[in-house]
Amino acid sequence: MPKRLALVAHDAKKDALVTWARAKRRDLQGFDLYATGTTGGRLMDDTGLPITRLLSGPLGGDAQLGAMIAEGALDGLVFFIDPMTAVPHDVDVKSLLRLAILYDTPLAVNETSANAVLFALCAEGADAD
Ligand code: PGA
Repeated sequence: MPKRLALVAHDAKKDALVTWARAKRRDLQGFDLYATGTTGGRLMDDTGLPITRLLSGPLGGDAQLGAMIAEGALDGLVFFIDPMTAVPHDVDVKSLLRLAILYDTPLAVNETSANAVLFALCAEGADAD
């Protein structure tokens, strides 16, 4: 069964996530990909990768990802957080990060950590389990 990876980016970080996903397209093809609504739309348009889109983050998408983590339905989370801008759904962001920490979910918040998490997940076998 493919590993399940969620991709999320705050607005100012969406270009960076798209650029990263393009560069990692080959690796990402081996995963079941999930994303919050706007991030997922951008990623599908710009990379052609198939992605299950959840609600937009501020409308509950981050909460949906948190619930997936709590239910053991996600193997990794790449969340490009904007460190310079306050967001209206900060409590949801904190909750998602808290659950990723609580459940020891591989978590990346920028390009370098995303490379590390993707490398580790691929080494475990994107199609294994
Ligand atoms: P979005 O949500 O992909 O719908 O913009 C991202 C977020 O959680 O801020």
